[in-house]
Amino acid sequence: MADNKQTQSILFRAPFDVRRMIFSYSCPSAVHVHIKNDKVVISECVSPDAIHDQSDGSDRKADLPPPGRRWDREDDYLYAQRLMSTWGPHWRCEEAARRQQRDLKPSTLLSMLDVCKLMRDEIADLMVRDAVFNVTDVYTSLKLLTDRASMMALNCTFEDIRKLDITLRLPEIIFRAIEQDEDKASKNYESLIALAPTTGSTEVGPWHEVCGRLAQLPKLTKMRLWLDHDQRGYWARVDERAFLTPLITSLEHKDVDVALHLPFANPRWEDPERHFEQDKVAPRIHVDRRKRQRKFGYVTVLGRLEVHDYLDFPCMDETTPVFGDMDADQRLAMERRLWKDGENMQLWRNGGMHISTCMKSFVDSSVREQNWVGREKELGCTLKWPAVL
Ligand SMILES: [Zn+2]
Ligand SMILES: [Zn+2]
Repeated sequence: MADNKQTQSILFRAPFDVRRMIFSYSCPSAVHVHIKNDKVVISECVSPDAIHDQSDGSDRKADLPPPGRRWDREDDYLYAQRLMSTWGPHWRCEEAARRQQRDLKPSTLLSMLDVCKLMRDEIADLMVRDAVFNVTDVYTSLKLLTDRASMMALNCTFEDIRKLDITLRLPEIIFRAIEQDEDKASKNYESLIALAPTTGSTEVGPWHEVCGRLAQLPKLTKMRLWLDHDQRGYWARVDERAFLTPLITSLEHKDVDVALHLPFANPRWEDPERHFEQDKVAPRIHVDRRKRQRKFGYVTVLGRLEVHDYLDFPCMDETTPVFGDMDADQRLAMERRLWKDGENMQLWRNGGMHISTCMKSFVDSSVREQNWVGREKELGCTLKWPAVL
């Protein structure tokens, strides 16, 4: 419809505020932004509260198996793939974006933006002011921040946004590389990076650059970072300070509220030089802790996708008689205290049997990744979910 006709339509004869309210009902409150073939792709966030997700991972069985069929290998496969999603708690959004691309079906948002220029401008303005823009990888973040990549569909650039979420579920090896980079003494992180199984290999330097450039987003008022690594080994192995200091330095004196969403660190390995023990990091920067995913998808030596259970806090989810009627928070507090006192809760839970495998997975995660890569070479195909996005 031509623009002049459109302006005469009922919608555009309505007062601006009324129109805006109508649009705000139909616009998503959050969107995902990623880059495909050098083009910025915007897709709807179908779980805008995912950042507060405390699920152990079993929710990723959702809709499996399809009606009329019993659980089989295919479901195992999809379940494991969902658990490996680099979009972390936004795995549903990844599936939705994948479907949208496969079916070439534009989302409601995109169809609305397509109606006419006037409508697009008003919706775009509404979106950059109110919606959360979520990015799930370092590469896209950097592209958006450096190239001033225009978000074509919205007719605006990344510089216009007010609310930004960055969701990173990175290969564990990246955190180790960054830690070693911080050490300066040992510069052999390139050899570690050579082992990195995914595009993660290039994420060390770029991450520092992303942190620096975030301070240059002139209208940003709210930023949330969700962080995890992709291995079963304890989160406490990660040097949080090494990874997050560049971000904090960059934003602590800006008018931006920053929330860092991190897993609980196991107190046995907690170390004030590596971890944030206080919730408040700076006046406008705070840490939000969550229970970590306990189900992990991975590839066996036989090249099969499987799901394994692994817990940073093995007791808090179990209602053992020891914990009596305590609620989840009390159990967690109790378990933290026991770890801190030197009790090995893995041992507690498994009567001494589990500890050897648990300590083993502590050191062999990089080996496992190598096996993975080796196995892919043998099979001549990729075992991870193809990088469709
Ligand atoms: Zn989402
Ligand atoms: Zn918070």
